Amino acid sequence: MNRFFRQKGFRPILVLCTVLLLVSVLLTACRQASSHEAQDIGSDKQISKTSFFLNTVVTITLYGTEEESLIEECFRLCDEYEKKLSRTLEGSEINALNRRARDTASEETLDLIETGLSYCVLSDGAFDITIGSCSSLWDFTAEAPSVPEPELLKEALTHVGYEKLSLSKNQVLFSDDQTMIDLGAIAKGYIADRLKDFLVENQVTSATIDLGGNILCVGDKPDGSAFRIGIRQPFGDQGSPMLVVPVSGWSVVTSGIYERYFEEDGTLYHHILNPSTGYPCENNLLSVTILSEHSVDGDALSTTCFSLGLSDGMALIDSLDEIYAVFVTDDYNIHYSEGLTDRFAISEPYSR
Ligand code: ADP
Ligand code: MG
Repeated sequence: MNRFFRQKGFRPILVLCTVLLLVSVLLTACRQASSHEAQDIGSDKQISKTSFFLNTVVTITLYGTEEESLIEECFRLCDEYEKKLSRTLEGSEINALNRRARDTASEETLDLIETGLSYCVLSDGAFDITIGSCSSLWDFTAEAPSVPEPELLKEALTHVGYEKLSLSKNQVLFSDDQTMIDLGAIAKGYIADRLKDFLVENQVTSATIDLGGNILCVGDKPDGSAFRIGIRQPFGDQGSPMLVVPVSGWSVVTSGIYERYFEEDGTLYHHILNPSTGYPCENNLLSVTILSEHSVDGDALSTTCFSLGLSDGMALIDSLDEIYAVFVTDDYNIHYSEGLTDRFAISEPYSR
């Protein structure tokens, strides 16, 4: 070998080869460094979009992907479910059932009516999806809402009662011709669960689904830590939550008197109705937040507990497995259900 290198002409070739080798080693090192960097950037990817569906602001945030079409499909699903489940949207399944323009429903609508009925039974009617004849008289979204005529409310109340509603195969049956279904207290939770199913089927492992404050998480944050969900102080600023709760893949849903209300002659009228009077529930509650795995349960139970009040609502939550609640009373005291503070590292970021 030495013989070759010692020969004239081989020395420059040796130098050239060494330089080429060094350059190629350097290029490989650079490529490795940049692909490592690209991976780091990849895990920081996120995309968030907001739109208006279900009478509220819907925000979907995905982590680890920038696939906009996944969010567009979530919005399309919101639209599709709204066209089935809305009480007010002309031509929706619920709207048509209430007008007796049809007597059958799709699988999803039947599924949600059945779930709704199970919460009517569980709460002994404090939660009642046949509140429709009364809730349609209270238009909280009107420009100048007003208290309905007492006589009208009294008459409407005679058509409220979940025992007047039943299902038989794909048929929805009413024993009272003027009973109307209102799934407003449970639909957002159900839809959030369906959006999560869709995202998980499409390999999304980290996301938040926010349907007007009805929050459902998919997995954890990309760094593996839990999502930190804020619970708003009633009537307070959304940007400075009263409590922050870390949750992994769970749902956080609040029903509060400050969400939809109006004042008339110094009285505040809110949108959670007492099914035995037709008027807003009068108790000392400002809000109820439910932590649960499935958002449909959180949505149904936050309204149920609000209607039941602190004592009965808390007893119900304490009797249920893996469901937790935070009640806020009108003295702004916070009441936690059994085991909540052991299960979740809840914090109060702003002193009250
Ligand atoms: P939000 O819609 O603001 O999230 P809720 O989930 O508590 O609040 O649902 C309130 C809606 O549920 C009302 O706007 C009405 O359509 C309906 N509703 C009101 N009172 C009751 C009740 N006692 N049981 C079942 N549904 C109710
Ligand atoms: Mg609800």
